[in-house]
Amino acid sequence: MKHTRRLSALCVALAIVQPAAHAANLTWDANSATALRPNIVFIFSDDHSIQAIGAYNTWLSAFCREHQVTPHIDRLAAEGAVFVNSFCGNSLCSPSRATVLTGLHSHANGVRRLEQPITPGLWTYPVSLRQAGYQTAIIGKWHLATTKPEFDYWRILPGQGAYENPGFIGPSGPEPHQGYASDVITELALDWLKQRDPAKPFFLAVQHKAPHRNWIPPARYSKWLDDATVPEPTTLFDDYAHRGSPAHDQEMSIGPDMTLASDLKVGERYAGDPRYLARNVDFQQRKPAGSELIRWKYQQYMKDYLRCVKSVDDSVGRVMGALKATGLEKNSIVIYASDQGFFNGEHGWFDKRWIYEESLHMPLIVNWPGVVKPGSRFTPFVQNIDYAPTFVEMAGGKIPGGLHGRSLVPILRGETPGDWRQSVYYHYYDHDGAHNVANHYGVRTERYTLANFYPVKEWELYDLEKDPLELNSVYHNPDYAPTVRMLETELARLRALYQDNDPLETGRQKDQARPSRK
Ligand code: CA
Repeated sequence: MKHTRRLSALCVALAIVQPAAHAANLTWDANSATALRPNIVFIFSDDHSIQAIGAYNTWLSAFCREHQVTPHIDRLAAEGAVFVNSFCGNSLCSPSRATVLTGLHSHANGVRRLEQPITPGLWTYPVSLRQAGYQTAIIGKWHLATTKPEFDYWRILPGQGAYENPGFIGPSGPEPHQGYASDVITELALDWLKQRDPAKPFFLAVQHKAPHRNWIPPARYSKWLDDATVPEPTTLFDDYAHRGSPAHDQEMSIGPDMTLASDLKVGERYAGDPRYLARNVDFQQRKPAGSELIRWKYQQYMKDYLRCVKSVDDSVGRVMGALKATGLEKNSIVIYASDQGFFNGEHGWFDKRWIYEESLHMPLIVNWPGVVKPGSRFTPFVQNIDYAPTFVEMAGGKIPGGLHGRSLVPILRGETPGDWRQSVYYHYYDHDGAHNVANHYGVRTERYTLANFYPVKEWELYDLEKDPLELNSVYHNPDYAPTVRMLETELARLRALYQDNDPLETGRQKDQARPSRK
């Protein structure tokens, strides 16, 4: 932890000013270094859980492999590395994206909640890549209030973007595009690969909208999986009997909170759409209710979700194919990740936001020919704070001081530093937003997750070795008192290390005017 222990009150300021100093000190010849420096393609999707990737070993992975949901991502993993302990620091779109760009946790980059701007003037990784002689491009979902990406080329979706015929924003303003979002993003990326300057190495970020809610699949997959039955998670009917009040009060349950009209395309809005005709007829005939309704909704949700995932996997295949066809494959790193995890019915939920496992895990797969041993499965605890310094080190640039993350390049080379972190810090702030998840901060270690839901003054502790599904909080079990003390000490250490001094407001912050179903 030597690197992060150097944090001081001046760290964020240093992160702002250091890249300029680095630029003045650059001495290499960009042209002569080109052959030695790899191209980097960062494919970043939205809300793609590790459960829905064949290359991970989860309760859903075997189904994904059997039905070829992610064959290209799985090949990327087989030829490269899977990070099995990869986590976010705040499981929400904009905050994760800001952390990826800055190498800093939410409280230090200014993006605690959706669509907030990154603190003006803060360093972001493309600045150092450009200074290192890289051409940089970002195409697809951006979802930050900061409207001008610091990439050489950018075409971004406004806000969440649209699944069909998505408009983009570029340096000259709005641009219309025809087609399905995953395909349009891919085609813009392949076009940019053709038009870039071949004399320079490049960094290309391909950032997908899919598989974000409301899970509109491409027409080519609208019938795919029709005859399959997606397995149900064992906790689909979780009653939260041994949990705190936040799990009872949330509003992300498939039963009451997943809408028929929008999420599941049942009813008038999609009545004329042939893609959803069969399910509308099925719903009218069955008229499912109670637990059968939850099971029916779960099947429709998961099939649409996996159809959207497959469109992203197609994109991974096309990008890998283009690199191979142009001879760039051997000198290009391809990275696949998503901005956070997602609940695929576990605890009866969809969405993310919690420190709990399904939401906390981020997929991270890195294929680096000649460096990463094919088939590697890395277990060190890594986090989205690590992406920015990793990209910069891959490009041979200089990493600014004061970042919260560390470069993953030593791990990728098979040389994990002896002082690598043993725990990750988490802080979620969007209690007032959708789904009514109480603000909380916490720590995840190899065996335990400890969280403080401070608005309701409740702590939870999960023993992941004995209770991997997180059904039973043991915070108040006297047998765990020494563990609680140990983890509270570790949590306090992390809060001091990262200088998270945000006020911890107690009491409901949620809009009281909003009706509650509970
Ligand atoms: Ca997301």
